[in-house]
Amino acid sequence: MSHGEDQRKSQTILPGATLGVLGSGQLGRMFAISARKLGYRVHTLSPESDSPTGQVADQEITASYDDLEAVSDFATRVSVVTFEFENVPSATAEVAARFAPVRPAGQVLHVTQHRLREKTFLREQGFPVTPFRAVRSVEELQIAIRELGCPAVLKTAGWGYDGKGQAKIQSPEEAATLWAQLGTDEAILEGFVDFRLEVSVIGARGLDGAFVSFGLLENSHSNHILDVTVAPARVSPRVAAEADAIARGVLESLDVVGVLCVEMFLTRDDRLLINELAPRPHNSGHLTFDANVTSQFEQQVRAICGLPLGSTELLRPAAMANLLGDVWENGEPRWAEALRLPDVKLHLYGKSSARPGRKMGHLTAMANSADEAERIVREARCRLMG
Ligand code: AMP
Repeated sequence: MSHGEDQRKSQTILPGATLGVLGSGQLGRMFAISARKLGYRVHTLSPESDSPTGQVADQEITASYDDLEAVSDFATRVSVVTFEFENVPSATAEVAARFAPVRPAGQVLHVTQHRLREKTFLREQGFPVTPFRAVRSVEELQIAIRELGCPAVLKTAGWGYDGKGQAKIQSPEEAATLWAQLGTDEAILEGFVDFRLEVSVIGARGLDGAFVSFGLLENSHSNHILDVTVAPARVSPRVAAEADAIARGVLESLDVVGVLCVEMFLTRDDRLLINELAPRPHNSGHLTFDANVTSQFEQQVRAICGLPLGSTELLRPAAMANLLGDVWENGEPRWAEALRLPDVKLHLYGKSSARPGRKMGHLTAMANSADEAERIVREARCRLMG
């Protein structure tokens, strides 16, 4: 525990104080919007300028995460540091922790930013994970393929997200080529899970150890990027309760103060396997901004400030559809056409260039059933492109 953290633990950070967020994307933007609603001030630090978070923060500091002087200066001006991007170097969180509490702690980042450390930790703690092997050479890869069988998924150990740095191996003959293409000296080979569904649970844990979850979310991906989330997930109450218990266990065993998302596969025989953890609000929880009493972003504010957590009750079944840069392919999307559906909400992140695959915004629809919400949000997105 860092200097002074013991003392600070008992102190609530009240509205009016300044919250620091490392990273400046859409997650930070929605965090900042929620913080401002509660009367906090927000500073953000990242290498970007005019960023999604910077546009709504009180102060945007443009500096590399390796610029420890800038990080120190940033941390001295805020009451607490959190992050919306977990791939910051360990030293960044360590330096920040000298001047302000970092929540969740740097140790949570350390575990979750590296697939091998994360899966090893989860397995040791007894959580169900996809079968995996550590791979550090093409020879180790060949052995791992023999043990796990094909197909299998090869992923870089560090710095991967949205399917970047990963490849599906269909046959052992592909090992040498795919290893060379991955261009890393540390990777993880995972058995391919023939899942029925991808699901996630977003949990929040307060300074006092209180835990709440937003319930099971059902996710579909396109090109490895989240495409649509539906709440509540269309699964049995037993599966939902089990997923909740897993998430609670994970947040407790990592001693998380803040928000953490557990992404899981639901196998065809109804078993849950953890795919990965994200120690922050998550894309699958964007619909909580409109559809829950307290959003995942407000919950992050409450948790890191030592305030009581809010109700996570889902007000209406909801669905979220991501808007990637591809939606701009034929020019400016037809916003008004989508908004003609009165239960649809539009969120745009303030990014100026719409590259294919880039997350530019999302739509949320609310309805009387999960099926109906999904139908409406998909229709709204289709309307954007005419
Ligand atoms: P990740 O970056 O690990 O979240 O992977 C992105 C997506 O790739 C996941 O959401 C799945 O759709 C797919 N995927 C990743 N790992 C596996 C696996 N072991 N088996 C099957 N599909 C996977």
